[in-house]
Amino acid sequence: MLNVKARAVNSPDSDFYATEITRRDLDKNDILIEIKYAGICHSDIHTAHGEWGPVHYPLVPGHEIAGIVKEVGSDVSKYQVDDRVGVGCMVDSCGECEHCKNGEEQYCTKGMVGTYAGTDRYGEPTQGGYSTHIVVHEDFVLRIPDNISLDAAAPLLCAGITTYSPLNHWKAYEGKNVAIIGMGGLGHMAVQIAHAMGAEVTVLSRTLSKKEDGLKLGASNYYATSDESTFEQLTNSFDLIINTVSANLPLDDYLKLLRLDGTLVNVGAPAEPVSLRVASLIGHRRSFAGSAIGGIRETQEMLDFCSEHNIKPQIELISADQIDEAYERVLSSDVKYRFVIDTSTM
Ligand code: NAP
Ligand code: ZN
Repeated sequence: MLNVKARAVNSPDSDFYATEITRRDLDKNDILIEIKYAGICHSDIHTAHGEWGPVHYPLVPGHEIAGIVKEVGSDVSKYQVDDRVGVGCMVDSCGECEHCKNGEEQYCTKGMVGTYAGTDRYGEPTQGGYSTHIVVHEDFVLRIPDNISLDAAAPLLCAGITTYSPLNHWKAYEGKNVAIIGMGGLGHMAVQIAHAMGAEVTVLSRTLSKKEDGLKLGASNYYATSDESTFEQLTNSFDLIINTVSANLPLDDYLKLLRLDGTLVNVGAPAEPVSLRVASLIGHRRSFAGSAIGGIRETQEMLDFCSEHNIKPQIELISADQIDEAYERVLSSDVKYRFVIDTSTM
């Protein structure tokens, strides 16, 4: 067992405190990673605050992990010491169900093992990336391309793949009109990825305050949803809408922006149930869907795609002592566009 430094919370309203956690001894296919950077995802906040249901405390969040391989188990074949690697939202799955076999481990019929707030195959609670080291089975480790710095790589492991996967699945390619709701951590990645895939991209943000950034990142159009005329103007416009918002929206207003056969995909995961009028779907054969992160194979594909298209998150580096402040700033949408913890400050 290895004792390592971490930052944890011990209740839904706890501040972060410095602590030590143990990482397991390496099994034959395990890798010990020295974490260099960990992104702060809004899901960390939902989970730490217990909004998605009860969690095991103390909890160390963090599922946007980038670092260096320090040690490998006896049977590890994919990675070597000193490799630049990442870990995203899951660290294990059954490996045997149809979805695992298809490389969609996030939809494992037995349930994927979350990087934190899960239970590992040894029956222990998993603890995430706000820490200096982590031990992960090699099948759940990703290779970070050389031209992506480790701090910028971290947010790709969740914000990147969570937007790449539905954009790819619903084919946000050339000739498609795609809208992204919310210019936050996920949203600013979705804009870049959809643009690189060839779609025409429109941002729907509450205000125009981030318009210049949105256009620079590849959007062709940028509208404020606080302006009611936006909804009149854009009726029946989009083939695909990706909703990245962490709170509930009036879905009927957004569904009517879809063209015939269009799909609104929620990746934002508010705690409260949503409601919509079925008529909003029936009228134009529209669909309302959801999507969870992406599989391991697709996550590697996303990293290579970002490398090839020079796509990077815009990040603000913080020290471990600033996590509480960063949470407050994410909750007030005062982030451009992802906080990343420098874990050397643990
Ligand atoms: P974030 O950085 O806080 O971005 C969310 C954006 O939503 C904000 O920047 C803001 O954009 C908009 N927004 C926030 N509150 C709003 C409100 N009350 N009404 C309308 N718009 C609001 O969060 P994130 O890290 O991108 O995560 C977004 C959501 O995705 C979270 O719920 C997270 O848990 C979820 N998530 C899901 C998956 C998955 O697998 N499905 C994976 C990762 C994250 P504007 O200022 O532009 O309006
Ligand atoms: Zn996340």
